[in-house]
Amino acid sequence: MLRRPEVRTDLPGPNAARLIERDSVAMSPSFTRAYPFVMDQGDGCWATDVDGNTFLDFTAGIAVCSTGHSHPRVVAAITDQARRFLHMSGTDFYYRTEIELAERLAAAMLPGAAARVFFTNSGAEAVEGAMKLARYGTGRPNFLAFFGAFHGRTLGALSLTASKATQRRRFAPLLPSVFHVPYPSESRGIGSDEAMANIEELFATVMPPESVAAVFVEPVQGEGGYLVPPPDFLPRLRELTRRHGILLVTDEVQSGMGRTGRLLAAEHWDVEPDVVCLAKGLASGMPLGAFIARGEHMSWAPGSHGSTFGGNPVACAAALATLDLLEEGLVDNAREVGHHLLDGLRALRERHPGLVTDVRGLGLMAALELGSPELAGEVVQRAFRRGLLLLTAGSRAVRLCPPLVLSPAEADVGLEILGEALAESAAAAQPAAPGAGAEAR
Ligand code: PLP
Repeated sequence: MLRRPEVRTDLPGPNAARLIERDSVAMSPSFTRAYPFVMDQGDGCWATDVDGNTFLDFTAGIAVCSTGHSHPRVVAAITDQARRFLHMSGTDFYYRTEIELAERLAAAMLPGAAARVFFTNSGAEAVEGAMKLARYGTGRPNFLAFFGAFHGRTLGALSLTASKATQRRRFAPLLPSVFHVPYPSESRGIGSDEAMANIEELFATVMPPESVAAVFVEPVQGEGGYLVPPPDFLPRLRELTRRHGILLVTDEVQSGMGRTGRLLAAEHWDVEPDVVCLAKGLASGMPLGAFIARGEHMSWAPGSHGSTFGGNPVACAAALATLDLLEEGLVDNAREVGHHLLDGLRALRERHPGLVTDVRGLGLMAALELGSPELAGEVVQRAFRRGLLLLTAGSRAVRLCPPLVLSPAEADVGLEILGEALAESAAAAQPAAPGAGAEAR
Protein backbone atom coordinates (compact mmCIF):
# COMPACT_ATOMS: atom_id res chain seq x y z
CA MET A 1 0.00 0.00 0.00
CA LEU A 2 1.25 3.48 -0.81
CA ARG A 3 2.61 5.13 2.29
CA ARG A 4 1.63 8.71 2.93
CA PRO A 5 2.61 11.29 5.52
CA GLU A 6 0.47 11.43 8.64
CA VAL A 7 0.28 14.68 10.57
CA ARG A 8 -1.96 14.08 13.58
CA THR A 9 -1.10 16.96 15.91
CA ASP A 10 -0.65 20.67 15.61
CA LEU A 11 2.91 21.46 14.61
CA PRO A 12 4.90 21.50 16.73
CA GLY A 13 3.12 18.85 18.78
CA PRO A 14 3.40 18.96 22.58
CA ASN A 15 6.54 16.81 22.86
CA ALA A 16 8.26 18.72 20.07
CA ALA A 17 7.32 22.06 21.63
CA ARG A 18 8.88 21.06 24.96
CA LEU A 19 12.13 19.95 23.34
CA ILE A 20 12.33 23.09 21.20
CA GLU A 21 11.90 25.18 24.33
CA ARG A 22 14.82 23.35 25.98
CA ASP A 23 16.87 23.66 22.79
CA SER A 24 16.31 27.42 22.77
CA VAL A 25 18.01 27.63 26.16
CA ALA A 26 20.77 25.05 25.79
CA MET A 27 21.86 25.18 22.15
CA SER A 28 23.84 27.73 20.19
CA PRO A 29 21.47 30.22 18.54
CA SER A 30 23.51 30.23 15.32
CA PHE A 31 21.41 27.59 13.55
CA THR A 32 18.77 28.28 10.90
CA ARG A 33 15.93 25.88 11.63
CA ALA A 34 13.12 26.66 9.17
CA TYR A 35 10.34 24.76 10.94
CA PRO A 36 9.80 22.78 14.16
CA PHE A 37 10.61 19.21 13.12
CA VAL A 38 11.95 17.16 16.04
CA MET A 39 13.14 13.75 14.84
CA ASP A 40 12.38 10.60 16.75
CA GLN A 41 13.03 7.84 14.26
CA GLY A 42 13.32 7.17 10.56
CA ASP A 43 13.32 4.46 7.93
CA GLY A 44 14.09 4.90 4.26
CA CYS A 45 12.64 8.21 3.09
CA TRP A 46 10.33 8.52 6.11
CA ALA A 47 10.92 10.42 9.32
CA THR A 48 8.70 10.31 12.41
CA ASP A 49 8.71 13.11 14.96
CA VAL A 50 8.47 12.87 18.75
CA ASP A 51 4.67 13.26 18.61
CA GLY A 52 4.20 10.36 16.19
CA ASN A 53 3.72 12.48 13.07
CA THR A 54 5.27 10.90 9.97
CA PHE A 55 6.85 12.97 7.22
CA LEU A 56 8.24 12.20 3.79
CA ASP A 57 11.83 13.38 3.96
CA PHE A 58 13.14 15.24 0.91
CA THR A 59 16.08 16.62 2.91
CA ALA A 60 17.96 13.46 3.98
CA GLY A 61 19.41 15.54 6.83
CA ILE A 62 20.93 18.02 4.32
CA ALA A 63 21.81 15.48 1.62
CA VAL A 64 23.46 13.08 4.05
CA CYS A 65 21.33 9.96 4.55
CA SER A 66 22.17 8.61 1.11
CA THR A 67 20.92 5.08 1.75
CA GLY A 68 17.85 6.30 3.64
CA HIS A 69 17.35 6.54 7.36
CA SER A 70 18.91 3.63 9.24
CA HIS A 71 19.33 1.26 6.29
CA PRO A 72 19.46 -2.23 7.85
CA ARG A 73 22.75 -3.09 6.14
CA VAL A 74 24.39 0.11 7.32
CA VAL A 75 23.06 -0.44 10.84
CA ALA A 76 24.39 -4.04 10.78
CA ALA A 77 27.84 -2.84 9.65
CA ILE A 78 27.88 -0.20 12.39
CA THR A 79 26.75 -2.69 15.05
CA ASP A 80 29.29 -5.28 14.02
CA GLN A 81 32.16 -2.77 14.09
CA ALA A 82 30.94 -1.21 17.36
CA ARG A 83 31.15 -4.64 19.02
CA ARG A 84 34.77 -5.04 17.92
CA PHE A 85 36.08 -1.57 18.81
CA LEU A 86 34.89 2.04 18.57
CA HIS A 87 38.10 3.95 18.08
CA MET A 88 41.84 3.58 17.74
CA SER A 89 42.94 6.60 15.64
CA GLY A 90 44.29 6.09 12.14
CA THR A 91 46.84 8.83 12.82
CA ASP A 92 48.87 6.50 15.06
CA PHE A 93 47.57 2.99 14.36
CA TYR A 94 46.09 0.86 11.61
CA TYR A 95 42.75 -0.91 11.14
CA ARG A 96 41.08 -2.83 8.35
CA THR A 97 37.93 -0.76 7.69
CA GLU A 98 39.91 2.43 7.09
CA ILE A 99 42.42 0.80 4.75
CA GLU A 100 39.72 -1.05 2.82
CA LEU A 101 37.60 2.09 2.44
CA ALA A 102 40.62 4.08 1.21
CA GLU A 103 41.36 1.41 -1.39
CA ARG A 104 37.79 1.32 -2.63
CA LEU A 105 37.35 5.11 -2.79
CA ALA A 106 40.66 5.60 -4.58
CA ALA A 107 39.84 2.90 -7.16
CA ALA A 108 36.29 4.13 -7.74
CA MET A 109 36.96 7.87 -7.85
CA LEU A 110 40.44 8.39 -9.29
CA PRO A 111 41.13 5.10 -11.08
CA GLY A 112 44.65 4.61 -12.39
CA ALA A 113 45.93 7.62 -10.42
CA ALA A 114 47.55 5.71 -7.54
CA ALA A 115 45.30 7.93 -5.43
CA ARG A 116 45.60 8.23 -1.66
CA VAL A 117 42.98 9.16 0.90
CA PHE A 118 42.88 11.29 4.05
CA PHE A 119 39.80 10.81 6.25
CA THR A 120 38.16 13.65 8.16
CA ASN A 121 35.06 14.17 10.33
CA SER A 122 33.25 16.69 8.15
CA GLY A 123 33.09 18.42 4.81
CA ALA A 124 34.76 21.59 6.05
CA GLU A 125 37.65 19.56 7.38
CA ALA A 126 38.04 17.78 4.05
CA VAL A 127 38.19 21.14 2.25
CA GLU A 128 40.56 22.52 4.89
CA GLY A 129 42.89 19.55 4.43
CA ALA A 130 42.75 19.83 0.65
CA MET A 131 43.74 23.52 0.93
CA LYS A 132 46.76 22.57 3.04
CA LEU A 133 47.70 19.74 0.67
CA ALA A 134 47.50 22.07 -2.34
CA ARG A 135 49.80 24.61 -0.72
CA TYR A 136 52.18 21.92 0.46
CA GLY A 137 52.34 20.22 -2.91
CA THR A 138 52.62 23.28 -5.14
CA GLY A 139 54.45 25.70 -2.85
CA ARG A 140 51.97 28.36 -4.05
CA PRO A 141 49.84 30.60 -1.81
CA ASN A 142 46.63 31.45 -3.68
CA PHE A 143 43.23 29.84 -4.21
CA LEU A 144 40.41 30.48 -6.62
CA ALA A 145 36.76 29.77 -5.81
CA PHE A 146 33.33 30.88 -7.05
CA PHE A 147 30.63 33.25 -5.87
CA GLY A 148 27.77 31.23 -4.45
CA ALA A 149 30.16 28.49 -3.31
CA PHE A 150 29.79 26.77 0.02
CA HIS A 151 32.87 24.90 1.21
CA GLY A 152 32.37 24.94 4.97
CA ARG A 153 32.68 27.22 7.98
CA THR A 154 36.14 26.69 9.49
CA LEU A 155 38.33 29.70 8.82
CA GLY A 156 40.21 28.28 5.83
CA ALA A 157 37.14 26.75 4.20
CA LEU A 158 35.11 29.86 5.05
CA SER A 159 37.61 31.91 3.05
CA LEU A 160 36.48 29.93 -0.01
CA THR A 161 32.78 30.04 0.93
CA ALA A 162 30.96 32.90 -0.83
CA SER A 163 27.34 31.90 -0.47
CA LYS A 164 25.73 34.25 2.05
CA ALA A 165 27.19 37.31 3.78
CA THR A 166 25.91 36.16 7.21
CA GLN A 167 28.22 33.18 6.97
CA ARG A 168 31.27 35.51 6.82
CA ARG A 169 30.09 38.61 8.70
CA ARG A 170 32.29 39.48 11.73
CA PHE A 171 34.69 36.59 11.10
CA ALA A 172 37.36 38.60 9.28
CA PRO A 173 40.22 38.49 8.69
CA LEU A 174 39.88 35.35 6.62
CA LEU A 175 42.66 34.03 4.36
CA PRO A 176 43.84 36.96 2.23
CA SER A 177 44.90 34.79 -0.68
CA VAL A 178 41.50 33.71 -2.01
CA PHE A 179 39.88 35.16 -5.13
CA HIS A 180 36.37 34.61 -6.42
CA VAL A 181 34.65 34.79 -9.81
CA PRO A 182 30.98 34.21 -10.74
CA TYR A 183 29.90 30.59 -11.18
CA PRO A 184 28.49 29.99 -14.64
CA SER A 185 24.95 28.65 -15.03
CA GLU A 186 22.15 29.16 -17.49
CA SER A 187 19.86 29.93 -14.54
CA ARG A 188 21.99 32.97 -13.66
CA GLY A 189 22.61 34.02 -17.27
CA ILE A 190 26.36 33.47 -16.96
CA GLY A 191 28.06 31.38 -19.62
CA SER A 192 31.36 29.50 -19.59
CA ASP A 193 33.04 32.13 -21.82
CA GLU A 194 32.30 34.82 -19.25
CA ALA A 195 33.49 32.67 -16.35
CA MET A 196 36.72 31.75 -18.10
CA ALA A 197 37.30 35.39 -19.12
CA ASN A 198 36.91 36.43 -15.48
CA ILE A 199 39.57 33.92 -14.44
CA GLU A 200 41.91 35.08 -17.20
CA GLU A 201 41.42 38.65 -16.01
CA LEU A 202 42.44 37.66 -12.48
CA PHE A 203 45.49 35.90 -13.94
CA ALA A 204 46.42 39.03 -15.85
CA THR A 205 45.96 41.42 -12.92
CA VAL A 206 45.95 40.36 -9.26
CA MET A 207 46.58 36.61 -9.24
CA PRO A 208 49.29 35.41 -11.63
CA PRO A 209 48.57 31.77 -12.54
CA GLU A 210 51.88 30.56 -11.12
CA SER A 211 50.77 31.88 -7.71
CA VAL A 212 47.66 29.69 -7.64
CA ALA A 213 47.78 26.44 -5.69
CA ALA A 214 44.25 25.24 -6.46
CA VAL A 215 40.86 26.02 -7.89
CA PHE A 216 38.02 24.78 -5.67
CA VAL A 217 34.77 24.10 -7.49
CA GLU A 218 31.48 22.38 -6.77
CA PRO A 219 30.57 20.42 -9.93
CA VAL A 220 26.94 21.27 -9.10
CA GLN A 221 26.75 24.25 -6.79
CA GLY A 222 24.90 23.16 -3.65
CA GLU A 223 24.08 25.76 -1.01
CA GLY A 224 24.33 28.40 -3.75
CA GLY A 225 21.06 27.06 -5.19
CA TYR A 226 21.67 23.70 -6.92
CA LEU A 227 23.14 25.34 -9.99
CA VAL A 228 24.26 23.09 -12.83
CA PRO A 229 27.08 24.61 -14.92
CA PRO A 230 27.10 24.63 -18.74
CA PRO A 231 28.48 21.33 -20.12
CA ASP A 232 31.78 22.80 -21.34
CA PHE A 233 32.63 24.56 -18.08
CA LEU A 234 34.34 21.84 -16.03
CA PRO A 235 36.29 20.45 -19.03
CA ARG A 236 37.56 23.99 -19.76
CA LEU A 237 38.48 24.52 -16.13
CA ARG A 238 40.31 21.18 -16.19
CA GLU A 239 42.28 22.24 -19.25
CA LEU A 240 43.13 25.65 -17.81
CA THR A 241 44.30 24.32 -14.45
CA ARG A 242 46.39 21.61 -16.09
CA ARG A 243 48.04 24.17 -18.37
CA HIS A 244 49.13 26.28 -15.38
CA GLY A 245 50.05 23.49 -12.94
CA ILE A 246 47.11 24.45 -10.69
CA LEU A 247 45.34 21.67 -8.79
CA LEU A 248 41.68 21.19 -9.65
CA VAL A 249 39.84 20.34 -6.44
CA THR A 250 36.23 19.25 -6.87
CA ASP A 251 34.15 19.71 -3.74
CA GLU A 252 31.74 16.80 -4.04
CA VAL A 253 30.68 16.99 -0.40
CA GLN A 254 27.07 17.52 -1.50
CA SER A 255 27.05 16.36 -5.13
CA GLY A 256 29.09 13.17 -4.64
CA MET A 257 28.25 9.65 -3.48
CA GLY A 258 25.74 9.01 -6.22
CA ARG A 259 23.44 11.93 -5.58
CA THR A 260 23.44 13.19 -9.17
CA GLY A 261 23.11 9.74 -10.72
CA ARG A 262 26.88 9.19 -11.06
CA LEU A 263 29.19 8.32 -8.19
CA LEU A 264 30.80 11.76 -8.62
CA ALA A 265 28.99 14.63 -10.35
CA ALA A 266 32.13 15.56 -12.35
CA GLU A 267 31.76 12.22 -14.19
CA HIS A 268 28.82 13.75 -16.08
CA TRP A 269 31.40 15.80 -17.97
CA ASP A 270 34.21 13.21 -17.97
CA VAL A 271 36.36 15.41 -15.77
CA GLU A 272 38.95 13.89 -13.46
CA PRO A 273 40.14 16.32 -10.81
CA ASP A 274 43.44 16.21 -8.92
CA VAL A 275 41.69 16.14 -5.55
CA VAL A 276 38.10 15.21 -4.58
CA CYS A 277 36.47 16.26 -1.30
CA LEU A 278 33.70 14.09 0.14
CA ALA A 279 31.54 14.01 3.27
CA LYS A 280 27.71 14.10 3.70
CA GLY A 281 26.49 10.95 1.89
CA LEU A 282 29.76 9.05 2.36
CA ALA A 283 28.73 7.12 5.46
CA SER A 284 24.92 7.41 5.31
CA GLY A 285 24.79 9.73 8.33
CA MET A 286 27.85 8.75 10.36
CA PRO A 287 30.26 11.71 10.51
CA LEU A 288 32.93 11.00 7.93
CA GLY A 289 34.65 13.10 5.28
CA ALA A 290 37.61 12.50 3.02
CA PHE A 291 39.85 14.08 0.48
CA ILE A 292 41.32 11.89 -2.19
CA ALA A 293 44.30 13.02 -4.23
CA ARG A 294 46.19 11.66 -7.18
CA GLY A 295 49.25 9.87 -5.82
CA GLU A 296 51.77 12.41 -7.09
CA HIS A 297 49.99 15.19 -5.17
CA MET A 298 49.75 13.43 -1.81
CA SER A 299 53.36 13.16 -0.80
CA TRP A 300 53.51 15.23 2.36
CA ALA A 301 55.81 14.32 5.22
CA PRO A 302 54.75 12.31 8.30
CA GLY A 303 53.42 14.74 10.89
CA SER A 304 52.32 17.36 8.37
CA HIS A 305 48.61 16.54 8.76
CA GLY A 306 46.54 14.29 11.03
CA SER A 307 43.28 13.88 12.95
CA THR A 308 42.35 12.02 16.12
CA PHE A 309 38.86 11.02 15.03
CA GLY A 310 39.10 11.23 11.22
CA GLY A 311 38.39 7.82 9.69
CA ASN A 312 36.62 6.52 12.78
CA PRO A 313 36.23 2.73 12.34
CA VAL A 314 32.46 2.74 12.91
CA ALA A 315 32.02 5.52 10.34
CA CYS A 316 34.28 3.63 7.90
CA ALA A 317 32.20 0.47 8.34
CA ALA A 318 29.07 2.51 7.56
CA ALA A 319 30.80 3.93 4.47
CA LEU A 320 31.78 0.48 3.20
CA ALA A 321 28.14 -0.66 3.49
CA THR A 322 27.06 2.60 1.81
CA LEU A 323 29.42 2.02 -1.12
CA ASP A 324 28.08 -1.54 -1.55
CA LEU A 325 24.51 -0.23 -1.68
CA LEU A 326 25.39 2.57 -4.09
CA GLU A 327 27.18 0.16 -6.42
CA GLU A 328 24.38 -2.41 -6.20
CA GLY A 329 21.81 0.03 -7.59
CA LEU A 330 21.30 3.26 -5.65
CA VAL A 331 23.37 5.38 -8.04
CA ASP A 332 21.21 4.11 -10.92
CA ASN A 333 18.10 4.70 -8.84
CA ALA A 334 19.16 8.30 -8.20
CA ARG A 335 19.53 8.83 -11.94
CA GLU A 336 16.22 7.20 -12.88
CA VAL A 337 14.04 8.58 -10.10
CA GLY A 338 15.84 11.90 -10.52
CA HIS A 339 14.57 12.11 -14.12
CA HIS A 340 11.07 11.35 -12.88
CA LEU A 341 11.31 13.99 -10.15
CA LEU A 342 12.62 16.66 -12.52
CA ASP A 343 9.84 15.89 -15.01
CA GLY A 344 7.35 16.35 -12.17
CA LEU A 345 8.94 19.66 -11.18
CA ARG A 346 8.73 20.88 -14.78
CA ALA A 347 5.03 20.01 -14.77
CA LEU A 348 4.64 22.10 -11.60
CA ARG A 349 6.36 25.02 -13.32
CA GLU A 350 3.90 24.75 -16.20
CA ARG A 351 1.02 24.74 -13.74
CA HIS A 352 2.38 27.72 -11.77
CA PRO A 353 4.36 29.88 -14.22
CA GLY A 354 3.78 32.95 -12.05
CA LEU A 355 5.43 31.34 -9.01
CA VAL A 356 8.10 28.98 -10.35
CA THR A 357 10.89 30.73 -12.23
CA ASP A 358 13.26 27.80 -12.83
CA VAL A 359 13.64 24.04 -12.46
CA ARG A 360 17.11 22.53 -12.46
CA GLY A 361 19.23 19.73 -11.13
CA LEU A 362 20.84 16.38 -11.82
CA GLY A 363 19.60 13.11 -10.39
CA LEU A 364 18.27 13.55 -6.89
CA MET A 365 19.90 16.97 -6.51
CA ALA A 366 16.96 19.01 -7.77
CA ALA A 367 15.62 22.50 -7.20
CA LEU A 368 12.60 24.60 -7.91
CA GLU A 369 13.32 28.32 -7.97
CA LEU A 370 10.54 30.67 -6.90
CA GLY A 371 9.94 34.35 -7.45
CA SER A 372 11.25 35.54 -4.07
CA PRO A 373 13.00 34.31 -0.91
CA GLU A 374 9.76 34.86 1.03
CA LEU A 375 7.82 32.67 -1.36
CA ALA A 376 10.44 29.90 -1.16
CA GLY A 377 10.25 30.02 2.65
CA GLU A 378 6.46 30.01 2.56
CA VAL A 379 6.27 26.97 0.25
CA VAL A 380 8.66 25.05 2.51
CA GLN A 381 6.43 25.89 5.51
CA ARG A 382 3.26 24.86 3.72
CA ALA A 383 4.84 21.57 2.62
CA PHE A 384 5.93 20.87 6.20
CA ARG A 385 2.37 21.33 7.50
CA ARG A 386 1.30 18.77 4.89
CA GLY A 387 3.98 16.24 5.87
CA LEU A 388 6.84 16.90 3.44
CA LEU A 389 10.29 17.95 4.70
CA LEU A 390 12.10 20.37 2.39
CA LEU A 391 14.90 22.91 2.65
CA THR A 392 15.71 26.05 0.73
CA ALA A 393 19.00 26.69 -1.11
CA GLY A 394 20.51 29.87 -2.51
CA SER A 395 18.32 32.91 -2.09
CA ARG A 396 14.99 31.58 -3.36
CA ALA A 397 15.22 27.93 -4.41
CA VAL A 398 13.45 25.00 -2.80
CA ARG A 399 15.85 22.09 -2.84
CA LEU A 400 14.98 18.44 -3.09
CA CYS A 401 17.70 16.08 -1.89
CA PRO A 402 15.88 12.95 -0.75
CA PRO A 403 17.61 9.70 0.19
CA LEU A 404 18.77 7.82 -2.90
CA VAL A 405 16.37 4.96 -2.07
CA LEU A 406 13.44 7.16 -3.15
CA SER A 407 10.91 5.21 -5.25
CA PRO A 408 8.95 6.76 -8.14
CA ALA A 409 5.76 6.40 -6.04
CA GLU A 410 7.38 8.29 -3.13
CA ALA A 411 8.59 10.94 -5.57
CA ASP A 412 4.98 11.32 -6.73
CA VAL A 413 3.73 11.77 -3.15
CA GLY A 414 6.32 14.53 -2.63
CA LEU A 415 5.41 16.20 -5.93
CA GLU A 416 1.73 16.09 -5.05
CA ILE A 417 2.33 17.81 -1.70
CA LEU A 418 4.66 20.35 -3.26
CA GLY A 419 1.95 21.03 -5.85
CA GLU A 420 -0.61 21.59 -3.08
CA ALA A 421 1.77 23.94 -1.27
CA LEU A 422 2.29 25.93 -4.49
CA ALA A 423 -1.45 26.04 -5.17
CA GLU A 424 -2.03 27.34 -1.65
CA SER A 425 0.55 30.08 -2.18
CA ALA A 426 -0.96 30.91 -5.58
CA ALA A 427 -4.44 31.22 -4.02
CA ALA A 428 -3.09 33.39 -1.19
CA ALA A 429 -1.46 35.69 -3.74
CA GLN A 430 -4.74 36.22 -5.68
CA PRO A 431 -6.26 39.66 -5.18
CA ALA A 432 -9.45 39.35 -3.08
CA ALA A 433 -12.65 39.03 -5.17
CA PRO A 434 -14.57 42.31 -5.58
CA GLY A 435 -16.87 42.82 -2.63
CA ALA A 436 -15.02 40.36 -0.40
CA GLY A 437 -14.56 41.73 3.10
CA ALA A 438 -17.19 44.44 2.50
CA GLU A 439 -18.89 43.63 5.81
CA ALA A 440 -15.71 44.26 7.72
CA ARG A 441 -15.42 47.69 6.16
N1 PLP B 1 31.21 21.58 0.84
C1 PLP B 1 29.97 21.53 0.35
C2 PLP B 1 29.75 21.50 -1.13
C3 PLP B 1 28.87 21.52 1.22
O1 PLP B 1 27.63 21.49 0.72
C4 PLP B 1 29.11 21.55 2.61
C5 PLP B 1 27.98 21.57 3.56
O2 PLP B 1 26.88 21.86 3.24
C6 PLP B 1 30.43 21.59 3.07
C7 PLP B 1 31.46 21.60 2.15
C8 PLP B 1 30.73 21.62 4.53
O3 PLP B 1 30.42 20.39 5.10
P1 PLP B 1 30.25 20.26 6.70
O4 PLP B 1 29.00 20.96 7.07
O5 PLP B 1 30.21 18.76 6.91
O6 PLP B 1 31.46 20.86 7.31
